Amino acid sequence: MRYNDFHGEKISALGFGCMRLPVLNNDQSQIDMPKVEEMLLYAYEHGVNYYDTAYPYHNGFSEVALGEILAKNGIRDKVNIATKLFTLEIGRPGFDPAKMLSTQLERLKTDHVDFYLIHGVHGDQWERLKNEYNIIEFLNEKRRQGVIRHMGFSFHDSYEAFVKLIDDYDWEFAQIQYNYLDNELQAGDRGLAYAKSKGIPLNIMEPIKGGNLIFPNYPAIDEIRARHGITESNAELALRYVFDKENLHVVLSGMNELDQVKENIAITDRCGVGCLTAAETACIEDIRAFLETVDTIPCTGCRYCTEGCPQKIMIPMAFSCYNTGVKFGNRDAQRRNYDRACANIGDCVECGQCAEACPQHLDVPELLKKVRAYFE
Ligand code: SF4
Ligand code: SF4
Repeated sequence: MRYNDFHGEKISALGFGCMRLPVLNNDQSQIDMPKVEEMLLYAYEHGVNYYDTAYPYHNGFSEVALGEILAKNGIRDKVNIATKLFTLEIGRPGFDPAKMLSTQLERLKTDHVDFYLIHGVHGDQWERLKNEYNIIEFLNEKRRQGVIRHMGFSFHDSYEAFVKLIDDYDWEFAQIQYNYLDNELQAGDRGLAYAKSKGIPLNIMEPIKGGNLIFPNYPAIDEIRARHGITESNAELALRYVFDKENLHVVLSGMNELDQVKENIAITDRCGVGCLTAAETACIEDIRAFLETVDTIPCTGCRYCTEGCPQKIMIPMAFSCYNTGVKFGNRDAQRRNYDRACANIGDCVECGQCAEACPQHLDVPELLKKVRAYFE
């Protein structure tokens, strides 16, 4: 395993993301413990020492599973646990950061968290945490006590908000969404450069864009790859793009199969700063250009159409599943999301309310038929 130096600590360049663990009966709360234990122990034995979970993952059972497996195998103190303060609870009755952290320690069967993050910060969450919950005093106290060893945040907002947040507290690390399609989204390349200038290493999440950059059975992508002589998998190409960057702390991969763990560990060892070749760079540029030409539904997700829908159809979700399926060639994966969220799409009575409300002037009822034809 390759390691990065974090103030004298050796942290594995690959982090094990515990947000997409294998489950039983299609139930996110029923984690397949033997399978997860096998995956985690393989990762541990091959040098992965960073395990990333969060309060809401698997309805709380990700933290429980991680805590149980680490305790059972006596390896809690040999690895780093990262978990997160769940910001979507802000403002809800009973939200209390101290209570949340203490629940997390209990679930994780530990007395400290190695890397603690404010989860997915966006909008006014950080200001509210400061003003309504005295979060800075709380975090400082927990850090002094050693309950939180290192403090950071994960982030989903604009570059400008990223800069403001980085400058507002004594963060030791931060975590951003970053991959070769999202390098200008949210914090993006500019965020990478800014964090480096401040000496704050970054964790990368979604390096393969939630699996979208794997492109199974996608002849147009295969043709681009062949043109550039690329032989590694699409997952590796995406990971190489990220690992190539400087100032990284950990690249996280949400793994749900042992083979993925094995592959990611092998890829990590083949990569590092400056690893991306000219052919790979050119191939990625051509893939980006190609994907921009794919014909998708120009829905912005504003949801103006949904309020007046008598059938309560989740129109933007239907369009999002369609767009992702068409663009990334992963219809089957999107079909599962579509089935879950859009089971009532056939109830559309073609009243046309949605089309009237749509600021993009989309002919929603007709487009819904197109989406149905694609998935059904
Ligand atoms: S046309 Fe269909 S989707 Fe649109 S508002 Fe009417 S019922 Fe809902
Ligand atoms: S109103 Fe139009 S753009 Fe907005 S979510 Fe609905 S379909 Fe998409």
